[in-house]
Amino acid sequence: RELPGDPEVGPRLRQVEGALWSAVAPLPVAAPRLLAHSRELAARLGFSEENVASPEFARVFGGNALWPGMQPFAANYGGHQFGHWAGQLGDGRAITLGEAVTATGERWELQLKGAGPTPYSRHADGRAVLRSSIREFLCSEAMHHLGVPTTRALCLVGTGETVVRDMFYDGHPRAEPGAIVCRAAPSFIRFGSFELPYARGDVGLLRKLADFCIRRDFPHLRGTGEALYGDWFGEICERTATAVAHWMRVGFVHGVMNTDNMSVLGLTLDYGPYGWIDDYDPDWTPNTTDAQGRRYRFGWQPQIAHWNLQRLAQALSPLFADVAPLQAGLDRYAAAYVAADRDNIARKLGLAECRDADVELMRELHGLLHSAEVDMTLFFRMLACVDPQAPTLAPLVQAFYDEGKRTAAEPAFDGWLSRYATRVAGDALDADARRARMDAANPRYVLRNYLAQQAIDRAEQGDPAGVDELLEVLRRPYNDQPGREAYARRRPDWARDKPGCSMLSCSS
Ligand code: AMP
Ligand code: MG
Ligand code: MG
Repeated sequence: RELPGDPEVGPRLRQVEGALWSAVAPLPVAAPRLLAHSRELAARLGFSEENVASPEFARVFGGNALWPGMQPFAANYGGHQFGHWAGQLGDGRAITLGEAVTATGERWELQLKGAGPTPYSRHADGRAVLRSSIREFLCSEAMHHLGVPTTRALCLVGTGETVVRDMFYDGHPRAEPGAIVCRAAPSFIRFGSFELPYARGDVGLLRKLADFCIRRDFPHLRGTGEALYGDWFGEICERTATAVAHWMRVGFVHGVMNTDNMSVLGLTLDYGPYGWIDDYDPDWTPNTTDAQGRRYRFGWQPQIAHWNLQRLAQALSPLFADVAPLQAGLDRYAAAYVAADRDNIARKLGLAECRDADVELMRELHGLLHSAEVDMTLFFRMLACVDPQAPTLAPLVQAFYDEGKRTAAEPAFDGWLSRYATRVAGDALDADARRARMDAANPRYVLRNYLAQQAIDRAEQGDPAGVDELLEVLRRPYNDQPGREAYARRRPDWARDKPGCSMLSCSS
């Protein structure tokens, strides 16, 4: 509310100049019903399980009621989409209800996604389908439990209404069940929040937003003027590097790294056509909308984040007399990413430290995993089972998708394993410490695309329990969970090219 708002209230489509948000209320739905919730986040926000189970909870988080003090709004921002400036975008289907301040002083913005039209809905309806909402709900929480910086998801509410989408299954419109996710973060400010006032030449508004963001979201930063802005941009760069390095560690592909989906807090933001690496392939993207250029493929994410930071640097340039602090921030990104990547290498391979030769060792391994079609998650998890005294591929065979390719690649893998074993023998960590280090960096359970799709199929048949069951497993991704081996297998053959299990579109 401290920032300039739009004088007009309501969802009439419009260009909103000189303002960073528009007051708009969620559009009520037919029959809000709680389908799932995050008990950890609910507790952190001060909700008891009784609160969560109450009809009132579903009404509020389905958009049918407001609690006192809630003043809903949609944010105004722009962005570069697939490398091109797209102008005003804004929250087309997300409506913030307000901020919750917890007993310990944490501040959480609570935002409904799929709550109806806003001034920024453009040609779309402001709604979200159940399958996409399940995907956002599950992945937000899965990433949190993996230790990856992310926005959170409080709950998933079915609307009792249908939404029509051009489905990727057959290209024909299909009526699907609708749902709303309540997502939560200290801030949803994006790179694109700064790009829009910059593109419009509104330096006053740009400066107000920068000052607000620093004061609210970066209160630890001291200093004034350009030095403060420089430190702030540098920290955004560093946080972005940290987040992307985590994605590379766990095999997450965001899928739509447009600048309107980049959080200034370095949180993973906007779970649309994301995907998880099954067989290791740096060129893979789950996003069918990006099938041609594959701009947002797995292996390119670190470079794309840098490109996006360059767009943010440009947007912030009116705040600086000289580009040096902005260049320093971009350099800080590069240095932070290299350091985080080396840390990933040491942790994933179970080494006390990453030496220069280890970077090469990992590069060679990636090449082997790619050419032999090997499951990334399984391989790294089971690498801890290889005995450095007598290294063989035997503990790793489950990670191979193709028998023939495995046989052909076996000599190359044997060579790599013996070099790895030599390196491990010369490392400071003892066997137990090495295994603990690897197990804490290499998850056993990730939200494989086909697992999410199975939970979605069940929910669309009227049984949302699969969402909870999957979330339960994903709560402890680094622990071996006896009886839950089925969640830690490689992608089954039937799921290989099944829509939803590997490919998704932006309209997801
Ligand atoms: P995304 O690619 O999901 O980040 O979306 C890009 C833009 O399109 C954002 O401004 C969204 O708010 C908007 N958008 C996506 N889907 C819808 C929808 N169903 N209704 C209204 N706006 C949407
Ligand atoms: Mg978005
Ligand atoms: Mg989206």
